Amino acid sequence: RAKDAGKGQFCFFETEMDNAVRVRRELEDDLREALTRNELFLAYQPQVGRSGAMTGVEALIRWQHPTRGLIAPNFFIPIAEQSGLIMQIGLFALRRAFEDSKRWKDLKVAINVSATQIRLKTFVEEVTALVKELGVNPHQFELEITEGILLGDDIDTQNRLAALRTMGFSLALDDFGTGYSSLSYLQRYPIDKIKIDRSFISNLGVEDEAGALVSAIVKLARAMKLSVIAEGVETDDQLTHLSALGCSDVQGYLFSKPVIANEIDDLYRDRHHAMVHQTVSA
Ligand code: C2E
Ligand code: MG
Ligand code: MG
Ligand code: MG
Repeated sequence: RAKDAGKGQFCFFETEMDNAVRVRRELEDDLREALTRNELFLAYQPQVGRSGAMTGVEALIRWQHPTRGLIAPNFFIPIAEQSGLIMQIGLFALRRAFEDSKRWKDLKVAINVSATQIRLKTFVEEVTALVKELGVNPHQFELEITEGILLGDDIDTQNRLAALRTMGFSLALDDFGTGYSSLSYLQRYPIDKIKIDRSFISNLGVEDEAGALVSAIVKLARAMKLSVIAEGVETDDQLTHLSALGCSDVQGYLFSKPVIANEIDDLYRDRHHAMVHQTVSA
């Protein structure tokens, strides 16, 4: 009997697996067409400095699927990476962010770059060509990479990052504190900024250790002469903790969710004023 039940569960599980595999394959095909069908777009989330004024934006990709609705990047970027579509999608994001950046001359525009993209030989050439074509100044941009990119200490990756840095791009380490690599890469790679992961921020004021960790990260950044920004700031309480700990650059729903470029235009007009705090329901 137990055996039958077990078997039943297994069959059910197998069907679920088949479904997941089928959906994934479908999405991979759809993603290939998403580029030509213009279904991908960028949302931008403001980054806020000490005075509360907007200093930059982070570009975050979205997929408006024709039947499944809006799909989040955590779901389709892995599919893009495994299917080899990441290069095209990554270049789409760069191109669109470069184009949009012209509307916001004195904002820093941050763009996420996946490890798979950086590992491709042609990455620096493609970026260089895009910079020329669109006539943008690399100093306006920050490339966000994760610790995973630095794992393995690949010399080609080191050279590519150095080349991008020499062109004028600045480099930010995203999701800082969630990776598994050693801290020594902070010395070996030309990193400009660390972004404290949201998981630490959401525990501020909830767990004592969270404050200690954030404080340690801020001190580490200062000692290494790096900028530091907190991501995922949702409450005034978190903001108060962060400024007490010496982290005055922030990004999160407290100020704004990621929005379309037109909405950034409005904020940009007011950029020297402190941004209005949002109320975020739990
Ligand atoms: P990320 O770069 O760490 O981006 C931060 C994520 O946290 C974004 O999710 C953002 O919408 C969300 N977020 C911002 N503020 C808050 C907050 O206050 N509370 C909460 N709960 N969440 C907040 P999103 O847009 O879904 O992006 C997820 C991840 O997908 C990004 O994490 C990034 O790793 C990746 N991604 C996004 N766009 C691109 C892209 O163009 N290329 C590549 N390779 N990856 C991308
Ligand atoms: Mg990011
Ligand atoms: Mg992040
Ligand atoms: Mg993340």
